Amino acid sequence: MARKPLIAGNWKMNLNHLEALALVQKVAFALPEKYYAKVEVAVLPPFTDIRSVQTLIDGDKLLMAHGAQDLSPHDSGAYTGDVSGVMLAKLGCRYVTVGHSERREIHGEDDATVNAKVRAAFRHGIVPILCVGEGLDVREAGEHVAHTTRQLTAALAEVDAEQAATLVVAYEPVWAIGTGRVASAADAQEVCAALREALATRYGAEVAAGVRVLYGGSVKAKNVGEIVAEADVDGALVGGASLDADEFAQLCAIA
Ligand code: PEP
Repeated sequence: MARKPLIAGNWKMNLNHLEALALVQKVAFALPEKYYAKVEVAVLPPFTDIRSVQTLIDGDKLLMAHGAQDLSPHDSGAYTGDVSGVMLAKLGCRYVTVGHSERREIHGEDDATVNAKVRAAFRHGIVPILCVGEGLDVREAGEHVAHTTRQLTAALAEVDAEQAATLVVAYEPVWAIGTGRVASAADAQEVCAALREALATRYGAEVAAGVRVLYGGSVKAKNVGEIVAEADVDGALVGGASLDADEFAQLCAIA
């Protein structure tokens, strides 16, 4: 099954809403429309920028999608500071990252929380970009495939095949995020293929063949080509490089 590559820019906690508008405009200017037929492009701004970004994308009929970086497992109620899938869906979010290593590490999100957030996203028609990845100690112990497939399986508890068919998975080795140390194409392929295999075991080969599995971790224009050339790597989740319009546009064009 042909899978359209996805390049999603995770802005993390950067850019106010005016800077967000400027960045989206620059990316739109730098990436000619013809590329969008071959690659799907999404930006994932902080919550405070989403409305502005949505208005710009919709108003100017830009071909990129937008999403969020997190959501509450709950739909409404006494959860001060949280933002629900209901709210994100109303803002036209197509994607939301769930299980990013920064949320797992800094906010102590465990597998049960990640699973609840994945299910909350599906409940509101938002596609979770489910992030999994091992730390350096796990990689050095040779346990990276077991670790990431276990994270995947745990995150998908009570997720049915129809939902799973729309899922995006991002393999993000923690040692590669924001470090400038990118995984080799072969390393990315090994884990992305294993994740697809785990999806096939759980949901069947057809579902697994349609799921996009991204690589994330220090992706730049100069290294994206060889990574996405791998058979089971269907694009990239891009942090730092997504804040530079020219670099991000170039990266999307190469992908
Ligand atoms: C990320 O935060 O998901 C990420 C991949 O960051 P970076 O590209 O900066 O390593």
